[in-house]
Amino acid sequence: MAVLLKKIAKEDGYERLKDDAGGYFAGTVFFKDRVIHGYPHIKRIFTLKEGVERNIKEDGFSVEEKIDGYNVRVALVDGKVFAFTRAGRIEPYASEKLSSLSFFFEENPDIVICGEMVGNTPFTPPTDQFDFMFYVFDFMKEKTILPFDEKQRLIKKYNLSSVPLIGKFKKTEEPWKKLKEVALFLNKGKREGMVIKGLSGKSAVKYVTPSSDIEDIRQNARFIFDMPVGFFNQRVFRSSVFLEDFGMSREEYAKKLGEAFYSSLSGGIKQFKKEGAVKEEFRIFVEKEETWNAVYSMLKKSKEIEVSDVYKWKEGNKIGVRFSKVYRKTTQKFRKFLSGYAVED
Ligand code: ATP
Repeated sequence: MAVLLKKIAKEDGYERLKDDAGGYFAGTVFFKDRVIHGYPHIKRIFTLKEGVERNIKEDGFSVEEKIDGYNVRVALVDGKVFAFTRAGRIEPYASEKLSSLSFFFEENPDIVICGEMVGNTPFTPPTDQFDFMFYVFDFMKEKTILPFDEKQRLIKKYNLSSVPLIGKFKKTEEPWKKLKEVALFLNKGKREGMVIKGLSGKSAVKYVTPSSDIEDIRQNARFIFDMPVGFFNQRVFRSSVFLEDFGMSREEYAKKLGEAFYSSLSGGIKQFKKEGAVKEEFRIFVEKEETWNAVYSMLKKSKEIEVSDVYKWKEGNKIGVRFSKVYRKTTQKFRKFLSGYAVED
């Protein structure tokens, strides 16, 4: 119990678990009369056939596209719809947007909807093509992920937008050739990858494409000193295994990888020289001023980033907000290194 208490963070009106502990997943949210369990970790596989054979413990499995956004769990608490981040914080932006899901909870008050948010959100690159999208990928009842058939039934019944379903397969029917084609197709389309799930809902693994590994590097190398240890190593290693497994052109990918690293890093250096900081721009559209205020307070709690350049405007009946996140560590290090500071290696 003491271990559990150490890992609990107190928020306004609820508590959340910072790490896995006591049989609960990180991100579990504790309200007075309700527990919203954390979404389970999905293990990564590096090679398709061996990875599926070893980790999916049943014959039948589904393959879904892996969408690159951020994870939210949506639940009804005390009659109100809330969206929670992976870490178990109330996410005010998604809570406003996804309050439209209240119709689902009328008949399913104890089910938690799990999905990926993308688009003009506080955490994903802005786009002019749409405002935001919420792709449902699972439902949870207590700690259990609902089985495939039940998930599909709910998605259909409530007409929810879901992650693209690539198909249903059986290990005994040797689907490996087909899966390889799928992986190549996703890679060609610069999509993130796939999530492979046992039909019972009890096991899942993720498999990503080298084009998404390289894209991650392109987007994040300029924040180099803020990235977690291993971020780049992992992606370089994963993409190498994929290239080997699929006999792909090393020359072509070497060029892409180098270009991703250098274009991103020099972009960061140029930006620092011009603006005095390394930052990333976001844009959101909200209905209520208080939603933006709550998003701002949430972002301000971060130790890694600082919110700057906030600009608000009226857009129809919505409020548009543009803001930047300044990456603190990278900005500090660039400041030192580019002004002649010497370091001992
Ligand atoms: P972990 O889930 O192991 O903690 P992570 O938070 O770093 O890892 P990723 O490596 O991006 O996240 O992979 C898992 C995440 O992928 C899920 O938590 C979910 O947000 C996202 N995701 C996107 N598409 C799907 C999908 N079809 N099924 C399940 N998760 C998906």
